[in-house]
Amino acid sequence: MGRRRRKVIRVVRRTLPKVFSCPNCGVSGVKVQMKGEHLALISCGNCKLTLNYEFSGRKEAIDVYNEFVDQFMAGKIKSEQRM
Ligand SMILES: [Zn+2]
Repeated sequence: MGRRRRKVIRVVRRTLPKVFSCPNCGVSGVKVQMKGEHLALISCGNCKLTLNYEFSGRKEAIDVYNEFVDQFMAGKIKSEQRM
């Protein structure tokens, strides 16, 4: 009997979906989705805080998240930026 062998080779990319804690509501519900080479969508599943973040250079989700938190703490992101 021929068993169908399916080898799943997963290319490990730097865009692994991870959940971060939200600077607005404190819940670990923030996802950073890479939308392009220089665009990421940051959204909190709890408080619906959403930000389209444009950046230059190459960044990983964690870098984008860190900058998002910095900007949020600096008051540059308003929580009424909701979807
Ligand atoms: Zn939140």
